[in-house]
Amino acid sequence: MHRSFVKGTLTDLGISPLKRKGQNFLIDENILRMQIREADILAGDQILEIGPGLGFLTEELLKTGAQITAIEIDPNLYRYLKGTLENRYDNLKLIHGDFLKEEFQGFNKVIANLPYNISSPITFRLHGIGIELGVLMYQYEFAQRMCSEPNCKEYSRLSVMCQYHFFPTLIRKIGSNVFYPQPDVDSALVRLVRRKRKTKAQNYDIFKNIVRSAFNKRRKKLKNALGSLGEIELKKMETESTMTTFLEKRAGELSVENYISIANHFSTNKDG
Ligand code: SAM
Repeated sequence: MHRSFVKGTLTDLGISPLKRKGQNFLIDENILRMQIREADILAGDQILEIGPGLGFLTEELLKTGAQITAIEIDPNLYRYLKGTLENRYDNLKLIHGDFLKEEFQGFNKVIANLPYNISSPITFRLHGIGIELGVLMYQYEFAQRMCSEPNCKEYSRLSVMCQYHFFPTLIRKIGSNVFYPQPDVDSALVRLVRRKRKTKAQNYDIFKNIVRSAFNKRRKKLKNALGSLGEIELKKMETESTMTTFLEKRAGELSVENYISIANHFSTNKDG
């Protein structure tokens, strides 16, 4: 999978890699092996791969014996994968489609080099599909935001929502020279491990709204940023000292657990 092989194959297929489909193909076998290692693959695993591209990662995954389902949006790449992999491996299910539009359940792992232009909707979608582990390549800055802690510049709505569901770890920063064509940005491999929370948001929609509203006005104190969610509920919150402390802070100063407390207090007062 050298640069020249990837370039030649794409030319033969009549494919000019498209930015809007995030088509940068991994050409470094060491990174690929690292990705497989980080996924701790067992024979019984049900693995989803988003955007198999030319199938290098897919083939390494198939060799482990786990069940692999790979969804590719590009019709030419899909046809190529059907011809090169489908008849050689009976543990592969190939789907031609858009990950953002299909329903997925029953997978315990997701492993992929993601199209960076849609990292955000893909990641938000992963929260809800029940996977236990993800080993995913992201744009470096995006990965930093996912893994960031309160009081850091990169701490954002993405950090809170991602860390509500997962323990994210930035495994390694990766330079752009391991892809063809070479992207303008650095990348990072991220490991996501599903989190089992003792205290969950009682009403997930309220939790999501609070986090969104807080970060939409991240420079304001929470008591001002959350105004649109209901004056009466806010007034009730101000009667409890822990909540008053939270309301005096700004979005970037609160932990995921703080947001859960606020949301649960809000839900209780709303219902009562
Ligand atoms: N897995 C290959 C690799 O490691 O070299 C390709 C990775 S490339 C960064 C992203 C792949 O995702 C491309 O093959 C692209 O066509 C595909 N893709 C883009 N948007 C997609 C979507 N919405 N659903 C499924 N595949 C998508």
